[in-house]
Amino acid sequence: MTEHVRVAVIGSGFGGLGAAVRLRREGITDFVVLERADSVGGTWRDNSYPGCACDVPSHLYSFSFAPNPDWPRTFSGQEHIRAYLEHVTDTFGLRPHLRFGCEVRRMTWDAQELRWDIETSGGRYAADVVVSATGPLSDPKVPDVPGLDTFPGTVFHSARWDHGHDLTGKRVAMIGTGASAIQIVPALQPGVSRLTLFQRTPPWVMPRVDRAVSGAERALHRALPVTTRMRRGLLWGIRELQVQAFTKHPNELGFVERLAKLNLALSIKDPALRARLTPDYRIGCKRILLSNSYYPALAQPNVDVVASGLSEIRGSTLVAADGTEAEADVIVFGTGFHVTDMPIAERVVGAGGQTLAESWKDGMAALRGASAAGFPNWMSIIGPNTGLGNSSMILMIESQLNYMADYLRQLRVLGGRAALDARPGAVDAWNACVQERMKRTVWNTGGCTSWYLDANGRNTTVWPGTTSEFRRATRRVDLAEYELLRAPAPVAQAPDGAGKSEVTA
Ligand SMILES: Cc1cc2nc3c(=O)[nH]c(=O)nc-3n(C[C@H](O)[C@H](O)[C@H](O)COP(=O)(O)OP(=O)(O)OC[C@H]3O[C@@H](n4cnc5c(N)ncnc54)[C@H](O)[C@@H]3O)c2cc1C
Repeated sequence: MTEHVRVAVIGSGFGGLGAAVRLRREGITDFVVLERADSVGGTWRDNSYPGCACDVPSHLYSFSFAPNPDWPRTFSGQEHIRAYLEHVTDTFGLRPHLRFGCEVRRMTWDAQELRWDIETSGGRYAADVVVSATGPLSDPKVPDVPGLDTFPGTVFHSARWDHGHDLTGKRVAMIGTGASAIQIVPALQPGVSRLTLFQRTPPWVMPRVDRAVSGAERALHRALPVTTRMRRGLLWGIRELQVQAFTKHPNELGFVERLAKLNLALSIKDPALRARLTPDYRIGCKRILLSNSYYPALAQPNVDVVASGLSEIRGSTLVAADGTEAEADVIVFGTGFHVTDMPIAERVVGAGGQTLAESWKDGMAALRGASAAGFPNWMSIIGPNTGLGNSSMILMIESQLNYMADYLRQLRVLGGRAALDARPGAVDAWNACVQERMKRTVWNTGGCTSWYLDANGRNTTVWPGTTSEFRRATRRVDLAEYELLRAPAPVAQAPDGAGKSEVTA
């Protein structure tokens, strides 16, 4: 049986739950949230590795409509963020809408009925509107290393941590030096016999001003909620002021680079190790990582930094591209996610019978980060070019929720059975503007390769402006940017059943 709903939200991370709350606020209760896992939380359910925490302060990395006066730390850990999302789910009464164990396998646009037919592992759904919040960092990417199948030990990705496997006393190989790896390394180092870090590119690392939020601060936030908002505003403002340096004047980041070099020099005394850990690209080109414990962990005698990527595995021997060999019992891949080739795009079949992945073969592009041409009434949360290098993704999610709410309002005003399809010209114009602005940014000019860039070297992930600019750009849906589709009127049946006539709207 097919359950028909007004809106199907896919995913129950910050994006999906935020969409659900917003739908209810808009008075829409006829919706489901389809989630492949068995609980909410997205990123913060899946990433349970030791040391996992946010790298944007918690008072900013949370919903503006659900402030939490009780964050335990300035940068809270995974378990607290996950608990926060469970709390949001209960507070806003979202449980009746959740459909767990429903992995979306395929969704197809039905041009006659003006709706999406959705096949999931937990049943079939039909929806007038789809809000795709499947997350940019949701599907782990494991490199196809020759010989991986010959490795006799345990292998897992940072986002699928094997908690049944005790790493105490083991020889662990950590592959990658991204945001997850720099949290994992210091958490593992004290307990393992040897930790070998395979580093293709060293990250820039700055100190992290992390501390417990005092009881007095929390009491103040509870008694005077305006103080939580003021704290959030301050955190937002500081980050907003940094944006120009990332997007227009990357040379201004030279000052920050000098601070990062000082941080490295103070932490790593061995000149050879320091040389291996010194990046050769402009700070900010890859995400600036925050840690007080990463460098000290790397300086410990049980840690080896191999300044070369993993290229081959021969049994329990891992071989780097420069020929360095290391023995390991466990391999942990901190190698990121399918970002510019997100699997959900293979599963969305639009009006022309093309998948979203086919439509995006030259690079992802969506009008205001939300709508792709040929995919009517489908919108993404954290779609193309909505990522941030220095601030909270929740700000961008909330902007997209404003857009979603206005989109649904517009459909209601239009009345009848209607759908909106982004005009190709509007998508191209938006994308051309984004790409033009991208040319000056540190992400494109900083001399690094990063997961922000796709296989064609195009930056289809990051927003090249401030979060307030994006907020303004997504406040309202401009109907001129969309083609209005109307469902054909039902086929009239002659009384004797002999003939049928089609009536067009
Ligand atoms: C370790 C880590 C730390 C991070 N730290 C920060 C930070 O400090 N600050 C920051 O701004 N951002 C951070 N991010 C980015 C983070 O991903 C976003 O901030 C945000 O959590 C994304 O929310 P989302 O709902 O869009 O996606 P997710 O949280 O990834 O949720 C997507 C959901 O969709 C579900 N799903 C996917 N495909 C399907 C399908 N086919 N069918 C059904 N369900 C599906 C998934 O199971 C998941 O529950 C971090 C990311 C990671 C991985």
